Amino acid sequence: MPVEKLHLWINGQRVQAQSSRTADIFNPATGAVIRLAPLASETDVDAAVAAAKAAYPAWRDTTPLRRARILTRFRELMEQHRDELARLASEEHGKTLIDATGSVQRGIEVIEFASGVPHLLKGEHSEDVGRGVDCHSLLQPVGVCAGITPFNFPVMVPLWMFPVAIACGNTFVLKPSEKVPSCSLRMAELFKEAGLPNGVLNVVPGDREAVDALLCHPDVGAISFVGSTPVARYIYETGAKNGKRVQALGGAKNHAVVMPDADMEFAADALVGAAYGSAGERCMAISAVVTVGEAADALLPLLKARAQAITVGRGDMDGVEMGPLISAAHRERIVSLIDSGVAQGAELVLDGRGLTVPDCEHGFFVGPTLFDRVTPEMDIYREEIFGPVLIVLRAENYEAAVKLINANPYGNGTAIFTSSGHWARRFENEIEVGMVGVNVPIPVPMAFFSFGGWKASLFGDLHVHGMEGVYFHTRTKVITSRWPAPSERTASSLAMPTH
Ligand code: NAD
Repeated sequence: MPVEKLHLWINGQRVQAQSSRTADIFNPATGAVIRLAPLASETDVDAAVAAAKAAYPAWRDTTPLRRARILTRFRELMEQHRDELARLASEEHGKTLIDATGSVQRGIEVIEFASGVPHLLKGEHSEDVGRGVDCHSLLQPVGVCAGITPFNFPVMVPLWMFPVAIACGNTFVLKPSEKVPSCSLRMAELFKEAGLPNGVLNVVPGDREAVDALLCHPDVGAISFVGSTPVARYIYETGAKNGKRVQALGGAKNHAVVMPDADMEFAADALVGAAYGSAGERCMAISAVVTVGEAADALLPLLKARAQAITVGRGDMDGVEMGPLISAAHRERIVSLIDSGVAQGAELVLDGRGLTVPDCEHGFFVGPTLFDRVTPEMDIYREEIFGPVLIVLRAENYEAAVKLINANPYGNGTAIFTSSGHWARRFENEIEVGMVGVNVPIPVPMAFFSFGGWKASLFGDLHVHGMEGVYFHTRTKVITSRWPAPSERTASSLAMPTH
């Protein structure tokens, strides 16, 4: 039976793509093709940007309070449709339903944050910056903004971007991952139902052709990207060359330090959830544990016992804790990285290769995998694996652990497990990573804080959501004004004022 071909969402309606190119969308648990994603062409992107440009003047002039009311209604609809969206995310990504539901909730919290936009857009004001002179600042929208999102959070990552951009008075073109486009298309319909005018949000599933069209389009003012580091670097450089502001969030290798004084049972529970949740396909997953001193000998058996007890299967089945990977190609890459770990001398404590799940023999599964005695030269340390593989490195002391993490090119998230405030405080201060947890394995900031890493995990200056998201999606204008009475007018002077 032929599978459904999805549409684009342009100017408030479903539109068939001009492009005839498509990508298969899989159910990763069964390996079956369940839909086809259109791959938008340059002409399709032009149509989406034109709709966003046409909608911009009226949306910019809609008061922030009215925009906020539409966002509030959108948040209500998202809550009503939370299970439907979680099911769709789980079906196309493979993650468990409960995990997908949590990620939808985290996305809804960004809408909640953006609904406070009348407050967030308040500028600054100073009376009498000079005699009879006042100064105030405005935060004005950029124009047409675009977002390019990865496969691993079909709902949450798009929601990091478009609610804040739209709340600030911009219009938006979203290019979701061609592997998981259905949630973005559904959210656009719900936003329309909430009262969003046509053209304010447009969705164009696609691949590099659509991305390049956005990067070069003269009418796009700002680009937000989330994905792997090589693509993030390309987006940042190309967007900047074309005069756009860009925030490009990249890949990660997140380390957790376990000090000898940590509560080992607590740390093992936290680390297993952080490493294997969503099959390790989270940019904030803990993929490397750095044990300090004798911590390794206490921690390893606890990690192993917990990891081998994880139930792997279809994400929509009750009791399943870990689903499949996104694609057959990704599974092969992970299996070959595990092979390389063995060949390069790491100790394979738990091997997830060769796992088959009953009734899902064609699914893209790798079981939980655990390595000990990994060293920094090994490929399993140097590469972002983005799968259910946790590696353990052993450091002699706290200083060696911090040195190792700071030498890593990535700087997205990290955590320390300790019962000492002394180590925790030093770690907070010394570690060169954007998001830090103290006895918290996945320190994802809430929507009213900003989310972003350092080094090769973020190209650009501003993080997503929180106030940094507002600043990214607005331009600051500063107005200096004076209203002198005729008697107060001064003669012209060619010198800068000295007071
Ligand atoms: P990806 O870089 O392959 O794709 C991301 C987006 O870019 C997709 O929309 C894709 O269509 C597009 N794209 C892919 N190749 C391209 C190219 N050559 N030119 C232009 N566009 C291209 O990433 P992915 O595999 O979808 O997602 C996994 C990656 O995303 C991991 O590296 C993960 O760490 C990262 N990620 C980072 C964060 C973060 O907050 N830093 C969050 C989620 C995911």
